[in-house]
Amino acid sequence: MNPVKIQLADCIQCGECASACLYNAIYMDEYPVIDQSHCLLCKSCINSCPLGLISIEETATNEDAPCCSEAQGIWVLAEFRDGLIAPVTYELLGAARRLSDISSEEVSVILIGASCKGHEESLIAAGANHIYIAESSYLADRLEEMISEILVEMVGKFRPNILLIGASHWGRGVSARTASILHTGLTADCTQLEIAPSSKRLLQIRPAFGGNLLATIETPLHRPQMASVRPRVMTPAKLDHERVGRITKYDVRHLVTNNRVELLAEEVMASCSSVTDASVLIAGGKGMQSKENVRLLYKLADLLGGKVAASRAAVEAGWLPYECQVGQTGQTVKPLLYIACGISGQVQHTVAMSEAQTIIAINNDPYAPIFQYADYGIIGNISEILPALIQELQGKAEITELC
Ligand SMILES: Cc1cc2nc3c(=O)[nH]c(=O)nc-3n(C[C@H](O)[C@H](O)[C@H](O)COP(=O)(O)OP(=O)(O)OC[C@H]3O[C@@H](n4cnc5c(N)ncnc54)[C@H](O)[C@@H]3O)c2cc1C
Repeated sequence: MNPVKIQLADCIQCGECASACLYNAIYMDEYPVIDQSHCLLCKSCINSCPLGLISIEETATNEDAPCCSEAQGIWVLAEFRDGLIAPVTYELLGAARRLSDISSEEVSVILIGASCKGHEESLIAAGANHIYIAESSYLADRLEEMISEILVEMVGKFRPNILLIGASHWGRGVSARTASILHTGLTADCTQLEIAPSSKRLLQIRPAFGGNLLATIETPLHRPQMASVRPRVMTPAKLDHERVGRITKYDVRHLVTNNRVELLAEEVMASCSSVTDASVLIAGGKGMQSKENVRLLYKLADLLGGKVAASRAAVEAGWLPYECQVGQTGQTVKPLLYIACGISGQVQHTVAMSEAQTIIAINNDPYAPIFQYADYGIIGNISEILPALIQELQGKAEITELC
């Protein structure tokens, strides 16, 4: 029940309340109508009425607004591309399941795309209680504008409390559009998600001020509470094939045909996806000293079946492309092996690689912070250590070939 009351019997239909509403929560349908999903009890309508016909329960606070108090459920927007569910969806489901264990709210996955059936079983096994499928051949191009429009309509209808989206290139676009249309907050690139013990609000935790401190952000007055999380930051949900869930088809025919954007072509850069998917990364920093030395990284990567990554300083020096950059403003990685060559280990870099299973650091400064993260450290000059390592590995490869 909305605590805002309008005495419609005496209303002169002047529309002043609708014009005064800061959140477009009042519209005129002959008489004023309150859209509860937008009303935040801001009270701006009360003073606007020339006849003083609008009142609000005195004890009501903003958090009693129906858009907050009636919101229920944790939603995960599935990232569906090339016929597959992207791993970040399962990582978000792992987080959603954990949040749900605290708040006892149901976890739903929103699956929007063309020919996206066939994944329901694995999504339920990963923790979804409910899957909404919005399917149409018009959605094959995954246009952000169209996906957001569908999501906004669904949020308006079902009022979720929390909405989690992967912070991939696609997810960043969709989440920002959706949050702005819904007039709600969005915390991008969260590294932790928790539920506040007393208020039960979502605590959206992310590095701030260049990664020097962790900020905890709350969305007290708007719903859904939206957060995006980069791929590989959260641990994927453990599959439990005994789990059962519900599936609801959501009709989007009325939304998908009037699109303003047409995708003419799509080009995937060859080097782009490789660092996040690689299980071995050989990363070079400013300590590589020159572009010529970077070939040592490629040589070592070849021998170990890995890819080359970079610190921002190496990218800014023009030695390696931005697509290779690991860090706060680059990619987040979680390989089995990360060899940091001539990288000092500033927090903006380590925040995105410290979860690697094994880290080896090579640096000529024994006090370089990277050694605090390393499982193995080699103190020495890159131009001596890397050729020696390469020679050793080449020797091994030759011996293996001979055997
Ligand atoms: C908002 C913001 C976002 C940022 N985002 C990122 C990001 O996404 N990724 C990122 O990496 N950085 C990022 N940075 C930059 C970050 O703070 C560091 O400046 C950067 O990571 C340093 O790169 P580096 O370690 O290669 O260079 P340096 O800090 O210059 O370190 C070079 C290291 O190489 C060692 N060295 C030198 N010569 C040799 C040699 N011959 N042999 C062996 N070792 C040698 C040195 O001892 C030193 O430890 C960001 C900064 C800000 C403010």
